Amino acid sequence: MEKKNIDWSNLGFAYVPTDKRFVANFKNGSWDEGALTEDSNIVMSECAGVLQYAQTVFEGMKAYTTEDGRTVIFRPDLNASRFADSAKRLEMPAFPEDKFVEAVVDTVKANAAYVPPYGSGASLYIRPYMFGISPVIGVKPAEEYQFRVFTTPVGPYFKGGVKPLTICVSDFDRAAPHGTGHIKAGLNYAMSLHAIVTAHANGFDENMYLDSATRTKVEETGGANFLFVTKDGTVVTPHSSTILPSITRRSLMYVAEHYLGLKVEERDVYFDEVKDFAECGLCGTAAVISPVGKVVNHGEEICFPSGMEKMGPVTQKLYDTLRGIQMGQIEAPEGWLKVVDVE
Ligand SMILES: *Cc1c(COP(=O)(O)O)cnc(C)c1O
Repeated sequence: MEKKNIDWSNLGFAYVPTDKRFVANFKNGSWDEGALTEDSNIVMSECAGVLQYAQTVFEGMKAYTTEDGRTVIFRPDLNASRFADSAKRLEMPAFPEDKFVEAVVDTVKANAAYVPPYGSGASLYIRPYMFGISPVIGVKPAEEYQFRVFTTPVGPYFKGGVKPLTICVSDFDRAAPHGTGHIKAGLNYAMSLHAIVTAHANGFDENMYLDSATRTKVEETGGANFLFVTKDGTVVTPHSSTILPSITRRSLMYVAEHYLGLKVEERDVYFDEVKDFAECGLCGTAAVISPVGKVVNHGEEICFPSGMEKMGPVTQKLYDTLRGIQMGQIEAPEGWLKVVDVE
């Protein structure tokens, strides 16, 4: 299989259509078999549930080329189960988890020419999603749904080197107690747009959201979970029922404990303790970890000792180890890499 002629290392994070996508439909109470198609457009009712009442959920993960030339997907089984949780919360039919992984694998296989070569730093981003497609005007769940998977090649996240982020404590809330903060739904992003545009206008890279009930505890950013490192080297991540359970964060906590022998804690993290941490990072599929250099709370600055030039030492080790696992340079825990057979 010949790779596409793409300048991999100069790709950004923007939609580039690839050859094939997977489509399955839910009608009369069941899913059809689904199939790959070349058609990247969707025709639907003007009154589709997704358009009127935002009934849509999604996932995001990546495929890479390992050092020994295999095409692998990182932990798609966890995306499948999180996707099922998201669908359930929005009263959407479950998409069977094994079929989800199969659809993801088939879509990557059909677009293997777009999986960037080893060493390029780029990857093939995979976007599964599901939405209510039948007309809905009185507020209720749609009766028909479409599940799709498309892929798009994305460039190295740290193009031109790592730059620690400056983030601000947001005056907006991301998720309500007992709301939808723990699921991957488009609606959580729609209402975060004003907050991120405001943060950018004020010169910040990202928002730090606090728990909306008490505004005393750290939750997450718009699209990444926090990891903190204490001065004595313990890796700490906020525990909360209103944050999205990041697969990258869960993997990094495992790596911290089992590969690096560090102490790990998932617990309430009060904003008052943020000033005492040595390092801070944001974790998600996009970057693995982006270091945070500074947190600003209404003019009051917290500067982490790791500074504004590079990742802190523990963050760097976590990053190198997880990247090494993804790239096949470090042995992965059982089941973390789903190998795609490409000819
Ligand atoms: C997707 C997402 C993350 C990161 O999750 P990963 O599985 O690591 O990519 C974190 N927070 C939010 C709100 C998200 O939507």
